[in-house]
Amino acid sequence: MDSKPDYCATDNKEKLYMETPVMYSFPLSKHAGFKVYLKLDNLQPSGSFKIRGISNMIQKGIDRGDSEHVYCASGGNAGMAAAHASKQLGIPCTIVVPQTTPEFVNERLRNLGAEVKVHGSVYDEAKKLAVELGSQPRCMLIPAFEHPDIWEGHASLINESSRQMSERPDLVITCVGGGGLLNGIVQGMRDVGWDEVPVLAMETHGANCFNAAIAAGEAVFIPAITSIAKSLGSLIVSPQTLEYYKQACPRILNEMVSDNQVIDACVRFSDDHRFLVEPACGASLAAVYSNVVKQLQDSGKLGTVKSVLVVVCGGSIVSTAVMEKWKADFGM
Ligand SMILES: *Cc1c(COP(=O)(O)O)cnc(C)c1O
Repeated sequence: MDSKPDYCATDNKEKLYMETPVMYSFPLSKHAGFKVYLKLDNLQPSGSFKIRGISNMIQKGIDRGDSEHVYCASGGNAGMAAAHASKQLGIPCTIVVPQTTPEFVNERLRNLGAEVKVHGSVYDEAKKLAVELGSQPRCMLIPAFEHPDIWEGHASLINESSRQMSERPDLVITCVGGGGLLNGIVQGMRDVGWDEVPVLAMETHGANCFNAAIAAGEAVFIPAITSIAKSLGSLIVSPQTLEYYKQACPRILNEMVSDNQVIDACVRFSDDHRFLVEPACGASLAAVYSNVVKQLQDSGKLGTVKSVLVVVCGGSIVSTAVMEKWKADFGM
């Protein structure tokens, strides 16, 4: 296996992810009427924030002696992150994907040195095989979101932001799939003393397992993922995410937007900032572009907001061609 490649180069060579910038956004601030800061985790070499938590989990596993092989079932950003981190740490990695995964994704994973095993017609079959392989001695199974080591790694996103920003934001905006990102954000906010700052956790209609859990009072399965935001497509939220919601420290607000609104946000963001992001990330951006924050203020659910921090979670399953197709499909 190659030695640690330079593409994850940071000032701190110990880190397996990049320290990403926080940028003040002129276009989004102008639109919103308050200051909008962007935590640009779309700049991570793996394409999303997931490298933070997953690299932390793999590193800790290796430290414990589980240094034989990494397994992960994911044709998305978790697989990309597992492949990146494994390459950097010099541990063999197999990504199990269902037959529905596009070939360009498999190709990208192979280019990172990962073995790609195509197995089953749906994700659950791929996952079953990964669980089986990952339970062999000294092997590791990397989940997409459900593990404390993953949340601990994601928390670095807020620790960095608090150092980088000259002011504390009045609101943090993020999105929720399985809830790993939100768990990390809550932990980071507690670490840096931002527990008075509310968090707006965005989902889409059709990928709304957190919303369903809040309504039911417990983590429940939603029947299917019908939203275009596939990276938010978990059928059930992490029980810890609902627990943090109940603890309300920081207070968590949950709102849903439509596929139309996330695509609108992705397209406008690409024009405003020249970045391509997935619909999952568009859900967070739609909180600003679709004036969700303003509506929360008007309805009294949120106080005065002078500045917000939007977590730009990124995502690598997007291209100019995909973007053009969305624009056509959604009549933009
Ligand atoms: C995984 C992912 C999410 C959701 O993260 P969870 O930890 O599952 O809540 C959001 N955006 C992108 C781009 C992702 O890859």
